[in-house]
Amino acid sequence: MARYNGPVCRLCRREGMKLFLKGERCYSDNCAIERRPYPPGQHGRRSTKLTPYALMLREKQKAKRIYGVLETQFERYFDIATRTPGKTGENLLILLERRLDNVIYRAGFARSRNEARQMVRHGHFHINGKKVNIPSYLVDPNDLIEISPQGKENETLKEILESGGIRAKSPSWLEVNFEEGKIKVLNLPTREEIDVPVDENKIVELYSK
Ligand code: SF4
Repeated sequence: MARYNGPVCRLCRREGMKLFLKGERCYSDNCAIERRPYPPGQHGRRSTKLTPYALMLREKQKAKRIYGVLETQFERYFDIATRTPGKTGENLLILLERRLDNVIYRAGFARSRNEARQMVRHGHFHINGKKVNIPSYLVDPNDLIEISPQGKENETLKEILESGGIRAKSPSWLEVNFEEGKIKVLNLPTREEIDVPVDENKIVELYSK
């Protein structure tokens, strides 16, 4: 699966806010947006008023960047969201939250979604007893995520679990047991439980154009 490999702090600076893409560094004084709080590039310091279209586009880009999803896959999620009963924008965010890499990150088993993605790819997790190494796998209610024998040998994961997880305050839709290395999906998240700074209505407007 293709993914963005460029400098990630640039993405935060482009969106004018912390997207927390780099783990612990995001909470330190070394965070690029603390030191250079303006968009990257030659004309970054110029203040320009965004058009309504640009505002909609920015919301989409922000969502893609937070979850580490590229355009084609994002369009696929949007398509599924439109065919699901309920509000399209909310459906879209719920789909993104259900990604296995996001769940691992939300549970506090990884410092960033990117790190969670690597762990999943390396086969560190089982779902309902079966190995799953696809970061975009969508979890369902009652799914039980456990650390695989391979994952138990991973020093980073071991260290994170022994310290009680990363900045852990797991969302209420997940039941997390750090000692046993288990995550149970209690239910799907509601919009109120998804704390991403994205206006999903603007994304829906963008795709309706
Ligand atoms: Fe964004 Fe983190 Fe880089 Fe700060 S350190 S700019 S929050 S990715």
